[in-house]
Amino acid sequence: MSFNVLIPQKIAKEGIKYLERNGATIVVPPSHDEETLIHYIQDVDAILARTETYSRKLIEQANRLKVIARHGIGVDNIDLQAASDHGVIVTNTPSANINAVAELVLTLMLSGTRNLLQVDRGVRSGDFEIRNRLFGYELKGKTLGIIGFGNIGRLIAEKSHLGLGMDIVVYDPYVTGADVASYIKVTESLEDLLSTADVITLHVPYTKSTHHLIDRDALKLMKSDAMLINAARGGVVDEQALEEILRNREIRGACLDVFQVEPPSKDHPLFRLDNVIVTPHLGAQTHEAFQAMALNAAEDIIAVKNG
Ligand code: NAD
Repeated sequence: MSFNVLIPQKIAKEGIKYLERNGATIVVPPSHDEETLIHYIQDVDAILARTETYSRKLIEQANRLKVIARHGIGVDNIDLQAASDHGVIVTNTPSANINAVAELVLTLMLSGTRNLLQVDRGVRSGDFEIRNRLFGYELKGKTLGIIGFGNIGRLIAEKSHLGLGMDIVVYDPYVTGADVASYIKVTESLEDLLSTADVITLHVPYTKSTHHLIDRDALKLMKSDAMLINAARGGVVDEQALEEILRNREIRGACLDVFQVEPPSKDHPLFRLDNVIVTPHLGAQTHEAFQAMALNAAEDIIAVKNG
């Protein structure tokens, strides 16, 4: 019997080639909504999953599914309990895109402090003098607060301290000072980090316990000239509270790669504010990461195929 791999969204050709070389048959559905996938999931042995949702309802239709290999890190789009109940292994690609996300965070941080979007618009509209009105800020000597100190958080700490000369403070209840570099201050108090950092960046998984981790009270603790970066998951931040805080200029700004609902609606209230930079969940969208995620997920599938 053939070993069928469902690939609902586009992946790099390296992943497809690896699967085919190892005896898999690729199945590509016409779209990746639940109504479509429910017809396809019945006869596949593996799924190479991107952002589409795998609910219990969907997983229950699978007759021979052995593995869902997530192309990326977060597995919050997969009902893990349902997968486990059905004996389906779930894998992810923990290292394939971490550098891509870390570099996006640096891009956002530097773009925010040098007002890149406003000055770009200014120059294009003939306002060269904007350079005398919109001064930037330097990151050297400023404090970067990292919430969630896993693979991405660690990489950002290294690049920001060694490359940009920033001081680093981290909050992660599962990390102790023992296993971190000496230039990093680990705090056990989220409030302490929120009230002292100049830039705060979020790198926690999205779970019940991180839902709205950054709520109105947390935002109120931030310094008035601090900037928030969210390249983790939209649900980690209370967007409504953030919009209000930004509108009232209670913090300097925010850079958001992820949203509570994706894609966000065109008239999202945050999009009216000039102290916000938004990107379309593209932390992992580099040529290098796209290729590595496809290949690593394909390798996970073949490892399960080969037992
Ligand atoms: P990781 O698992 O290596 O690290 C997550 C860290 O968060 C862990 O150290 C964990 O202890 C910590 N943590 C868990 N709950 C916490 C809490 N309540 N408070 C503080 N820390 C907590 O994951 P990673 O590779 O660093 O990725 C982090 C997240 O980034 C992923 O779960 C994913 O959702 C997101 N991500 C986004 C993109 C993007 O395109 N924007 C790409 C990749 C990953």
